[in-house]
Amino acid sequence: MTIHNFSAGPASLPAAVKQQLKSELDNWQNTGTSVMEVSHRSPEFKALMADNEALLRSLLGISDEYAVLLVPGGARLQYAMLPMNLSAPNRKTVYHVNGYWGFLAYQEAQKFSQVVTTTEPPKAPYQPQHSLGDYDAAQIDTDADYFHYTSNETLEGIQWHTLPDSNGLPLCCDMTSDLMTREVNIDDYGIIYASAQKNLGIAGLTLVIVRKDFIGQHDNNIPTLMDYATFEQHNSAYNTPPTFVWYVMYLVLQWYQQQGGIQVMQIRNRAKAQKLYDFIDNSTFYSNRVAPGIRSEVNVPFWLADDGLNEQFLRESSAAGLKALKGHKAVGGMRASIYNAVPMQAVDALIEFMRNFEKQHA
Ligand SMILES: *Cc1c(COP(=O)(O)O)cnc(C)c1O
Repeated sequence: MTIHNFSAGPASLPAAVKQQLKSELDNWQNTGTSVMEVSHRSPEFKALMADNEALLRSLLGISDEYAVLLVPGGARLQYAMLPMNLSAPNRKTVYHVNGYWGFLAYQEAQKFSQVVTTTEPPKAPYQPQHSLGDYDAAQIDTDADYFHYTSNETLEGIQWHTLPDSNGLPLCCDMTSDLMTREVNIDDYGIIYASAQKNLGIAGLTLVIVRKDFIGQHDNNIPTLMDYATFEQHNSAYNTPPTFVWYVMYLVLQWYQQQGGIQVMQIRNRAKAQKLYDFIDNSTFYSNRVAPGIRSEVNVPFWLADDGLNEQFLRESSAAGLKALKGHKAVGGMRASIYNAVPMQAVDALIEFMRNFEKQHA
């Protein structure tokens, strides 16, 4: 049986990458050992690090004005590192919150800066949102250090398809769930960050693309390993980095390049999402609560007409090889994450299952 993995993260890897992982495991680049057993200071690994950065730069069109950093600790460490490096406890930052991850970023930033929100300040416990959230950009304090938002809210399935208006403040964006899935103009941003376990391989590293003039400008007394300058000066290898994670990222990037780059990923992701949303919209049994103009092209949440059927849906879909369709508990229902490594066949198989399930229960 073919297994299709719709996990939101850690998520599906390209089948070709898993094959390569297997075939190189005992003898990586004729070193006679696995990649996990070589020094991060070895010529072989240093070449991988340099190639990896070159690939990221060419796939995403990253200019020399930006540093490309790989930082352990996940996207959520960036929720702290960002204000530590770009702001100060007595300085303002602006957060636009339109979902779960943006809410967590906003909460963490309050420890390190004076956070102002564009909309009514969100309150804990977090309540799911179904819109981008309206705000008056002209009211944004231009003295703040930056404007933060989340381009794709992974739980709610809400995605920005235009740039938010930051009233001229540098845009800082958590792109963990959609970086590499569509084309972006890096020059529009001060900082973009994305942890690796969605579209850049496996958990353990976060890609941080940061304008060089934002690095090392702060007066904060922060740990060496939380300072962007440390990562810039030492090619992200000041201490021992998670080398295997780095290697998997490199394989995934090579796969993107072989497939035709980010433009091709975007075309495929649009087609997959369109097909799934069309099916959901044309059904009275399934529904999606997000307005068409702001729907995510990579995380598709949907609800069954009768919540009482959720457990059965999950049991039977899993038995049919369709894995990890349960929605996040904060939102409920189902969610299909259809990142770069999830092929159209997976979406076709899901739709067929959903159609049959509806026939039996509608
Ligand atoms: C998955 C996800 C995260 C998770 O961050 P980690 O610290 O890497 O676990 C953060 N932000 C977004 C938008 C996500 O989709």
